[in-house]
Formats: sequence, C-alpha cells, structure tokens
Amino acid sequence: MKVLIAEDDVISGRTLEKNIRGWGYDAVVTTNGKDAWQALNPEAKDPKKTDKNPIRIAVMDWEMPYVNGVDLCKKIRNTPLDKKDSYLYIILLTGRDNQDDIIKGLSAGADDYITKPFSFSELKVRLKNGERIIQRENNRIQIADTDDLTQLWNRDKIREILKEETERCLRENTPIGVIWADIDNFKQVNDNFGHITGDFVLMEVAKRLKNSLRKYDKIGRYGGDEFLAVVPTCRHEHIAHIAERFRRAINAKKIAVESDLLEVTISVGATSSEYSPNSSPDILIKTSDKALYEAKNKGRNCSVIKEPE
Ligand code: GH3
Ligand code: MG
Repeated sequence: MKVLIAEDDVISGRTLEKNIRGWGYDAVVTTNGKDAWQALNPEAKDPKKTDKNPIRIAVMDWEMPYVNGVDLCKKIRNTPLDKKDSYLYIILLTGRDNQDDIIKGLSAGADDYITKPFSFSELKVRLKNGERIIQRENNRIQIADTDDLTQLWNRDKIREILKEETERCLRENTPIGVIWADIDNFKQVNDNFGHITGDFVLMEVAKRLKNSLRKYDKIGRYGGDEFLAVVPTCRHEHIAHIAERFRRAINAKKIAVESDLLEVTISVGATSSEYSPNSSPDILIKTSDKALYEAKNKGRNCSVIKEPE
C-alpha cells in the first residue's frame, strides 16, 4: 500500500520514510503542501497520468509551506480525489497538542491525529489501523462491483470501465475494442439439466472467457448469459482475433457437468473504434450488439465484427 509522507523538515521526512518503508509500505515523500497535493492528484497536472495504484494513506505535517496540512485535508475532502474507490486515510502529525487544534485537524477531515514527539511504534499501529480500514473499503467496493455467480465485473461496473477506458483511449489516441458474447440456446441447458447446472455452465464460460484475455482487458457479466469485454488499445483486425479466441475457448472443450459432457457454444459480436475514434461507449455497445445479433442470425457459434456507424 502506498503512503504519502508530507513533512517539511527533511531529516524528519527521511526518518519517517525509512520506518514506513521498513514496515512494508511504498512511500512517496514530499516536503510541502503543493507537492503533496500533486502527488495525490497526478491527473490534475497530466490527464494521461491515471494512477492505477493510488496513494491510500497520507501522513501529513500541520505546518508546511504553500498549503498547510489542515488546508490540504479540506482540499482533499472537497474534491473528486475523495472519490468512491480510493478513499485517502489521513493521519495528521503535528507539534500542536492542544484540544482546539486537535478538533480543528479532525474537523478538517483527518482520520487520525498524532502529536509530536511521538513513538514510531505508535505510528506503526496507527498506520496499520488505517490500512485495515482501507482494506475493508477495498473489499466492500470489490463485492459491490462483482457479479455474485461468475465473479466477473457486474453490469454497472463494466459499463463504468467502458466509459473510463473509452475516454482514456481517446486521450491517448489509441483504439478501443468492445466484445459481446452470448451463450447459444442457453435456455435449453436450464430446461434439460436444471438451473444449478445452468449456473455451473455460466461460471465455466466466464472463467474461460476471462482466461483468454490479457491482464489489462476487462470483462463483465452484463446480465443473464451475456458477457461484455472491454479491450483497450485494440485495432479492428485484433478484435477479430480476440472474438474468435473467445468463441474457440468455449467451443474447443466440452463442459463436464455431473455425468454429462455438454457441448456449449457462444455467438460473438465485436467492434473497434479504430476507424471511428470518437465513438461513444453507447455507440460501441450498440454496434457490437448489432454484430452479435447478426452472429445469432448467421446460425450461432460464430463471430461478427462491425464498424461503428
Ligand atoms: P440464444 O442462442 O438466442 O441466445 O438463445 P438462449 O436460449 O440463450 O436465449 P437467451 O439468451 O434469451 O436466454 C438466456 C437464458 O438465460 C434465459 C434465462 O433462463 C437464463 N438465465 C439468465 N440468468 C441466469 C442465471 O443466473 N442462471 C441460470 N441458470 N440461467 C440464467
Ligand atoms: Mg443466449
């Protein structure tokens, strides 16, 4: 977990860094409020710098040049930085030990407050408490964004990912690919083998689709037997390969259920923004959905690629 140290006294900052790193955290060290703000919010300076591993705990001095710790707390709590999936746990570290100041610091949005001189073992425990809260927060968000049955992203989350990735790919001038996959005649699986077997098939299909993607690609269960994959930096030609890889991942090996081996197939529809870079997420979804519809009409167990209109 990444910890920000904002401390204007260089020697104290180094000692903090040495200890915090020693306890197994990544440390980012800044010596004033302005640099601390920038470290916490790299996207403000350069929108291309989306931080995949953001700072989750800040240990901040009260007295600092440019922006002091209390004003920085207020600034953080009043901006999108305090966004839902990366809450920042703030520990104010300061020589001010009177009750009014403690109240002022905590009211500004600090989660915890340590007065100097302090013991490092106390800081270690307080950091651990912050880490525990962030971890619980991460788990809660993970559960809220995950589809219960398949453990893929759920519909809302995959839509959110599509929106973010479409914007990012546009900024970075690189195409994005979108793939729909839908199990063929899935109702028959439920009808012939029951819903528990149907659920098992959904889980197996989800696992195979996920395994056939790269780490940076994302896949969610959009609903029922439909899956949506978001493939950043993906040219038209490449999306066709992935769509076929998806199809083969399901078709190549029968799914073993109880005493049967089921032959399951999927139809796949896909698109890439390569030739229409300004395509919105809705256009990409609509286009790949149309492609999927065509694949079903072509007789299923096939993939169709369409360009956004
Ligand atoms: P098509 O080839 O046209 O896609 O035919 P299909 O039978 O797959 O039709 P459709 O995609 O419309 O049917 C989806 C079925 O998926 C209907 C519903 O009973 C089933 N289903 C939806 N969610 C679940 C689930 O969570 N578990 C199980 N077992 N079945 C589900
Ligand atoms: Mg289906």
